[in-house]
Amino acid sequence: MTKTALAVHGGAGTIAPELMTPAREKAYREALDLALRRGHAVLQQGGPALDAVEAAIRALEDSPLFNAGKGSVFNADGQHEMDASLMNGSDLRAGAVASVQNVKNPITLARIVMDRSGHVLISGAGAFEFAHKQKAVLEDDLYFFDDFRYQQWKEMAGTDRVQLDHSDKEKKFGTVGAVALDGNGHLAAGTSTGGMTNKKWQRIGDSPIIGAGTYANDATCAVSCTGHGESFIRAVAAHDVHALMSYKGLSLQEAVRIVVHEKLPPLDGDGGLIAIDRNGNIVLDFNCSGMYRGHVGPDGEFHTAIFR
Ligand code: ASP
Repeated sequence: MTKTALAVHGGAGTIAPELMTPAREKAYREALDLALRRGHAVLQQGGPALDAVEAAIRALEDSPLFNAGKGSVFNADGQHEMDASLMNGSDLRAGAVASVQNVKNPITLARIVMDRSGHVLISGAGAFEFAHKQKAVLEDDLYFFDDFRYQQWKEMAGTDRVQLDHSDKEKKFGTVGAVALDGNGHLAAGTSTGGMTNKKWQRIGDSPIIGAGTYANDATCAVSCTGHGESFIRAVAAHDVHALMSYKGLSLQEAVRIVVHEKLPPLDGDGGLIAIDRNGNIVLDFNCSGMYRGHVGPDGEFHTAIFR
């Protein structure tokens, strides 16, 4: 078995240190640590990177602290519409869902899309019908309710304002993601989000778009992004990290630096990404003040962090 590695994120953005009480920081770090432990357990048992990514993201979706699954933001109609995707680096298979409602774990529905639908991306009512047929776990609206997100939405409801997951005091993107390298040398990546507060017209961000928010290829790396989705789509951010490594022969660290600090800023692309290469190198980088993140490298040490 080769070495294994795993990284997770719970969103990037302008996180005001003065609002981060010790209790709040502890809660975030514990939630990130739990996600790492769920994914790491899969890898320790010799499981595939894709299963580790799904397990880690499910833990983050189940936490109300993040804008994914339970605790997703409210759209303009006061509902939750979620996006998720994952990709397997060994054969470039991928699955994704966009604008899905009432699905407890959108990342698992994305996995089922990959495994059983013959498609890569399905959306809206059709995705719900598919979820129902495939017996994906569904929850009523109340399950997804979080008072903090509700207050965020109330400040904007009825206006044309659309915001990433933030209030006036705190601007942050609460999307979640994971990347993993398994003992057989295979890579995988996944991302899950509730998108933007007060979004209309079934707006879809980068998270369910393969190549934009998520990309994995055993030849190079696995990437999961968080930030201003429109910019990440235009930058084809996740695939660009792969392309810089593949075509230019750059290291993971250098490829990530170029995408995060040179290519995204001119497109108003606030945010960051997590990435892992086939040697188990891990890079967690962002161009804003913080990113909820954690990793466990080949040495088996668990780390979590929020600020730089
Ligand atoms: N990238 C996500 C989106 O635009 C937002 C986030 O990262 O929190 O939907």
